[in-house]
Amino acid sequence: MRATKAIIHLDKLTANIQLVRKMIGEERLICMPVKADAYGHGAVPIAKAALAAGAAVLAVATVDEGAELRQAGIDAPILLLSTCLPEEIPLLIQNDLEPFAGDEEFISLLEEAMEAQTHSLRKVKLNVHLKIDTGMGRAGCTPEHAARIALFITQQKMLHLKGTATHFAVSDSLDPAHIANSKQQIECFTKTIDHIKAAGIDPGIVHAANSGALAVHPAAWFDMVRPGLALYGYSPVREPPYALAVQPVMELASRIISIKRVTKGQTISYGKTWTAFEDTLVGIIPLGYGDGFPRLLSNQLTVLIRNTFYPQIGRICMDQSMVNLGPDTNVRRWDKVTIFGNGIQNAADLAAKIGTIPYEITCNINKRVVRVYEGA
Ligand SMILES: *Cc1c(COP(=O)(O)O)cnc(C)c1O
Repeated sequence: MRATKAIIHLDKLTANIQLVRKMIGEERLICMPVKADAYGHGAVPIAKAALAAGAAVLAVATVDEGAELRQAGIDAPILLLSTCLPEEIPLLIQNDLEPFAGDEEFISLLEEAMEAQTHSLRKVKLNVHLKIDTGMGRAGCTPEHAARIALFITQQKMLHLKGTATHFAVSDSLDPAHIANSKQQIECFTKTIDHIKAAGIDPGIVHAANSGALAVHPAAWFDMVRPGLALYGYSPVREPPYALAVQPVMELASRIISIKRVTKGQTISYGKTWTAFEDTLVGIIPLGYGDGFPRLLSNQLTVLIRNTFYPQIGRICMDQSMVNLGPDTNVRRWDKVTIFGNGIQNAADLAAKIGTIPYEITCNINKRVVRVYEGA
């Protein structure tokens, strides 16, 4: 196996799920979002480990992602968070995915496709989750229309209103205005649920909380939480008392593949952005933007070797990056290098250096980087 790999610590995923379980109590359900190949961690192994650790429900963004889980033999409920195309609905039904829906046209398409497929069905009805937009400004019906759309779902012969959901825009922010926004979303959602019930309709499983709301807004926990980021080991908020003691599941690791001597004044890599200020030893790591490692991090990060941080120097190339080991080093060729997820530096630290979020760092580590599962 090549030197560069993403070690996926399933024991840490288990610990993160247990931590969330302690927070929310025994009654609430945990939904594990495994969209985008489980935020880059590998959907099937993460889904299996999450279910074993106490998650009851999974969530994906595309029909293909749901089909991949079914092909792996997973039979837990799978939410489909994003609306799919009409032509994808037969595959959605075959795979028994539970779509979010917020408009009559899409609901009717689901109903028609169900009626057309009845003979080959595992279940009599397709489970649907009503999606309400309480302030995210993305998918979902308005709160005013929610009771009408809920009724519309219950009027379909082949659909079952399994749950009612909303999503937060700024739940991971402690800015007072943002806290007020999230509280408004919670209040609006709660009232809307009450309207649906007052109309004699069972809203099913009521769910709203992403990682931010899990950490900051217990009033948003309702019947089920859907925290992705937190379960992958990143606290959505770092300030106490809200910071969650979760641990990163992904560790990006590589090895030093060669060490060379460089004299003062010599430059390193494309663009000559780094010049040796003294005679020094430079190590090469076989990791680059061809692995989905951000080139923007060039000259911005340090990596951990034998418990010491060394600066990455020069432009990150497609396949390789360099580190300055100093004039005198105990680092040896073939030594292990950890880039993030080593207990000291995590993907959120790197993300902050280049104005992005940890989600994007882990999602972008691409398929050239083998995922190695440990701790199962
Ligand atoms: C991705 C997603 C989540 C999880 O969000 P995190 O910020 O990772 O906790 C929850 N709900 C919906 C609808 C999502 O799309």
